[in-house]
Amino acid sequence: MAPRVVVMGLASDFGCQVQMTNIEDDLLDVLGLIDLSYWQLASSGHMPAEYDVAIIEGAVTTTEHVELLKRVRATAGVVMVIGACAVTGGIPAMAGQGDLEERYGCVYGADGAEVACGRVSPAPVKSVIDVDYEVPGCPMDTTEFLRVLSRALQGLANRVPEEPMCAICKTKENICFLDKGEICLGLFTRTGCGARCVTLGRPCTGCRGLAKDANVESAMKILAAKGFDVDEVAERLAVFNTLEEAFCR
Ligand code: SF4
Ligand code: SF4
Repeated sequence: MAPRVVVMGLASDFGCQVQMTNIEDDLLDVLGLIDLSYWQLASSGHMPAEYDVAIIEGAVTTTEHVELLKRVRATAGVVMVIGACAVTGGIPAMAGQGDLEERYGCVYGADGAEVACGRVSPAPVKSVIDVDYEVPGCPMDTTEFLRVLSRALQGLANRVPEEPMCAICKTKENICFLDKGEICLGLFTRTGCGARCVTLGRPCTGCRGLAKDANVESAMKILAAKGFDVDEVAERLAVFNTLEEAFCR
């Protein structure tokens, strides 16, 4: 029997599920290997009670998410998370910094804390349940998604490249943005995207999360010595990595 796969979204813009629709050529091959029982973006029905593989996009922001994830973990043999929001908390995690209750009030008015749907400070899926496979990035890379899904279906180990972006950037013979006076977060960020943005002419914004051995303190010192405003660097790093130190190191 083909593995039954469900695809669901928590707090996100569904960008990674949209990415899945962009791989129609390869998707047909993948669909031949699986029983796609539910795809939140594309299904009008409800999620089935039984399935083998759960693919999850988005950050945890509500108590309903927490309960859902616990049920998913108890049901699925394989849990795979896709995209920065699910892997690191991503951009939603920024909302959890400071006074979350006050933010509810800003958005929903005086009774905001009561009526707001979220009651959980935004966090990655791994903060609630064990995760078997990760596809980081904002949005995720479709080729990497297919590779990781294929590994998951074959029961092979999860392999996320961990070396810092600069190591790969150098092999592409790019001129370093830092030498041009522009902030680039490659010093902190794990590769796996082939240093895509920097090779296309844009500094890395750190969407894949921190490299395993990233030495944030030391990198900040290097950047300060080069004349960069480390507060601005920290601000940019926080966009995708607010919770990285807490959950992912
Ligand atoms: S800082 Fe950015 S541009 Fe410089 S080597 Fe690292 S990834 Fe490349
Ligand atoms: S170069 Fe940086 S911002 Fe661009 S995809 Fe890779 S990790 Fe993300």
